[in-house]
Amino acid sequence: MKKIIQDYTKEELGEIVKPPFRAKQIYNWVYHKHADSFGQMENLPKAMRAELEEEFTLHPLTMLSRQESRDGSVKYLFELHDGHTVEAVLLLMKEAQYHEDGTLKHHRRYTVCISSQVGCKVGCAFCLTAKGGFMRDLSAGEIVAQVLEIYKDQGIPSNHRVNLVYMGMGEPLDNLENVAKAVKIFSDMDGMSISPNRQTISTSGLSSKIEKLGAMDLGVNLAISLHAVDDELRQQLMPINKAYNIASIMEAVRNFPVNQRKKVLFEYLVIKDVNDDLGAAKKLVKLLNGIKAKVNLIYFNPYPGTDFKRPDPEDMRRFQEYLLSKGVLCTIRESKGLDISAACGQLREQKLQEGGAQ
Ligand code: SAH
Ligand code: SF4
Repeated sequence: MKKIIQDYTKEELGEIVKPPFRAKQIYNWVYHKHADSFGQMENLPKAMRAELEEEFTLHPLTMLSRQESRDGSVKYLFELHDGHTVEAVLLLMKEAQYHEDGTLKHHRRYTVCISSQVGCKVGCAFCLTAKGGFMRDLSAGEIVAQVLEIYKDQGIPSNHRVNLVYMGMGEPLDNLENVAKAVKIFSDMDGMSISPNRQTISTSGLSSKIEKLGAMDLGVNLAISLHAVDDELRQQLMPINKAYNIASIMEAVRNFPVNQRKKVLFEYLVIKDVNDDLGAAKKLVKLLNGIKAKVNLIYFNPYPGTDFKRPDPEDMRRFQEYLLSKGVLCTIRESKGLDISAACGQLREQKLQEGGAQ
């Protein structure tokens, strides 16, 4: 099997292709010019192009399907070389804006939501990804290629600023080594130049790995999928809470190096009659005391076979208003791409049901 070129940092590539400036040229072809073959890389010596073609692939992913939502979000299903499938979602956050004289004020703003594993070991009760069990980790290149393929598909210029969230399928901190490598490859100035402070790693709360990620000091943002404020309920929703309880997560968050101007994001998936009461909101305020935090309330997105229900918008707003009244920053995540079932794992599941993908 051929090696995946996107698996390599520029420094690693520089060890293989000598002299090392060749690595910079290759990065330019892969990440700026979006080359389809090594043959196109005309500033490389012919023999080198042939060797690269022999040994490496530029295409670790094949797009199996693409669904566009009315709000401009696009959901992708990719097939890996071994037939497994993963999802990524392009979210349109803001339309382009223009000055009065017609010149561009800013481009469309995008966030790309990427997967880090095929399936997930964590097994949260509300999550569709968990239902299929765990298959395998993605390599760094398989993570990077999701964004690259979306750029190519959408014709997004390589200098366009996008944000990345590791909120697709899988638990990123359960695949920390490859995720950390992907963060570095994404941020290479000769590559996609997506700086770590525009990348957010979302975790179900593997406290020891949060500490490890913090020690790496990559400069990424951290998001915690909290979803419940007492251990008993959290344990029911997220079995991982037995190993890493809420106190251990908060301790790890306090130790995490956060960029001066940034906050730690706490995701709170709101499920009707489970965790949508004001009592929970009160406990949440207490829990976040002294932490530079921002809360993102997420509507539970139902799927066939689940007993959990989508919360009422009034309860969402009441929850939000309580937090705001206590000085805690809180937003409600718009259910972007809801009509294309954009919550994690849902497109893949649909395909599985149809017998299409693995
Ligand atoms: N494993 C990581 C990242 C992937 S899950 C984590 O748990 O943080 C990304 C987010 O999707 C999590 O906050 C998760 O709670 C949320 N999610 C899972 N199932 C969902 C559903 N049915 N509706 C809405 N959000 C969901
Ligand atoms: Fe895994 Fe995140 Fe889904 Fe939990 S919510 S099962 S951690 S992907």
